[in-house]
Amino acid sequence: MLMSQLYAPTLRETPAEAELVSHQLMLRAGLMRRSASGMYSFLPLGLRAIRKVEQIIREEMNAIGGQEVLMPIVQPAEIWEESGRWAEYGDEMFRLQDRNGRQFCLGPTHEELITALVRSEVRSYRQLPLRLYQIQNKYRDEIRPRFGLMRGREFIMKDMYSFDKDEEGLDKSYWAAFHAYERIFQRCGLEAYPVEADSGAIGGDVTHEFMVLAEAGEDFVLYCDKCGYAANVERAEGVDLPHAGPAQDLQPLTEVATPQVSTIAQVCAFLHKEPRDCIKTLIYIADGQPVAALVRGDHNLNEIKLRKFLGCQVLELADGETIARITGAPVGFAGPVGLEVPLYADYAVESAVNAVVGANKADAHLLNANLGRDFTVKAFADLREIQPGDPCPRCGGVLEGARGIEVGQVFKLGTKYSQAMGATFLQENGVETPFIMGCYGIGVGRTVAAVIEKNHDEDGIIWPVSIAPYHVIIVPVSMKDPAQAEAAEKLYQELLALGVEVVLDDRDERPGVKFKDADLIGFPIRVTIGPKSLEKGEMEIRNRRTKEVQSVPVEKVASAIRKILEAES
Ligand code: ATP
Ligand code: MG
Repeated sequence: MLMSQLYAPTLRETPAEAELVSHQLMLRAGLMRRSASGMYSFLPLGLRAIRKVEQIIREEMNAIGGQEVLMPIVQPAEIWEESGRWAEYGDEMFRLQDRNGRQFCLGPTHEELITALVRSEVRSYRQLPLRLYQIQNKYRDEIRPRFGLMRGREFIMKDMYSFDKDEEGLDKSYWAAFHAYERIFQRCGLEAYPVEADSGAIGGDVTHEFMVLAEAGEDFVLYCDKCGYAANVERAEGVDLPHAGPAQDLQPLTEVATPQVSTIAQVCAFLHKEPRDCIKTLIYIADGQPVAALVRGDHNLNEIKLRKFLGCQVLELADGETIARITGAPVGFAGPVGLEVPLYADYAVESAVNAVVGANKADAHLLNANLGRDFTVKAFADLREIQPGDPCPRCGGVLEGARGIEVGQVFKLGTKYSQAMGATFLQENGVETPFIMGCYGIGVGRTVAAVIEKNHDEDGIIWPVSIAPYHVIIVPVSMKDPAQAEAAEKLYQELLALGVEVVLDDRDERPGVKFKDADLIGFPIRVTIGPKSLEKGEMEIRNRRTKEVQSVPVEKVASAIRKILEAES
């Protein structure tokens, strides 16, 4: 490819709309352009990187017996009604109607469609296991589309679905996909750590997310260096904390006036207490019924855990009016003593002694509230959000925390969809059984963005060879010098013949401009052809990552490049 022809409009300035480095660089290097919020056009360089990631994914999916299919993006509402997700998916789903008023959606994911496909075709255990995948656009009307490809409303996903005859088969499919994912991210030059996760709207209960640790990540991961436990904060388990500190005598329950003091921080400052001496009382509405959740003052409630524990569909924080009706007090003064709704407490509340709680009365708190004596709870459970410094639930070590980018996720679905949609096969013994399913997704664009997030410097992108849009750029310092132009053209042809993906910068630009573009776009190798070195019969090979420059005799340049590329891919 000639640089003069390449459609890669680079930008000198950082676009104001882009917060993350990866987003800025993808715009600046001319990889893509925004068309609407969360939707992008890929330009040639961006598309080449995307296609390379897709190819790596394809190879690894095929290697575990995956077969590629392509399903429609537009999906009929009926199948989503069968699974119950037409209502459940909510506003994230793009919905549309055809001219006859039939309802459709733009697929946010394809569990329903693949289940409907397979149920009408696969009849016998002899046809299992079956692993089908596709690479295709997905549509989710995200509340906050942002960060470029990280959170788009239209994005490319690889989604695989496995169908097995029993749990043992599912286990094999799951771990095959898990290990394929490890290889895929490694081949893309990414360190992605599998962490235990919550299954969200997809369903099932065994699931791992693959996380790239980065400040730009929207997820938070807790991990233990001692035993290797790692989990998304949504999922990270708490342990029943042993009683901390010396035994205390129970003090008498005392009401104190706390005028306009309602947050934990205000209460602590006012009463000279620590947050851990307080118990927070949160009023929720679970499927229409009020409940109260108690967590220690220095802890946060994890709503996902509460929803799971209660087994409810909809869980919402109660509004001020409801809180006033239930507690008799404005927001900020709820407490467990005398409260007449079911109370659920986090494990850490069990060991609280002489706690500060709201008095269910405006401008008042209670000192020395004690479990058993002053209030009782319906159940204790793991309800809080785990924080760095908390004990590891596996080995008792200390958990650390880091932000992460979720690039992929694997799920054991079991029979959630096959059962609901009547997708069955005949077992060996003739019994009709629902398929045991798994599903496995990778965000292709998000993977490219994560690679850039982890591989760049102040000058631009530093592509790993495996997914670089092109491997090499040849930069003659001046195309006006016939010797340079001729040497450049010769090397260009030589590299093309060797199958190296190469761009010749044939533009009549100052060398500084060409070097800047080369660094910004991030070609792993730059060959500079200057008058002085050429006189000596040499060219310079520069490594984008290390910035090392080697002078190499002209006739050896192509083979030297091939060696570097082989070593790095
Ligand atoms: P998130 O929690 O980030 O919203 P998710 O868990 O809903 O993602 P999955 O349904 O697991 O996403 O989809 C599989 C993969 O698709 C994710 O691991 C991620 O890499 C990618 N992905 C999901 N949503 C988006 C999005 N809005 N933009 C880009 N990639 C996405
Ligand atoms: Mg996910």
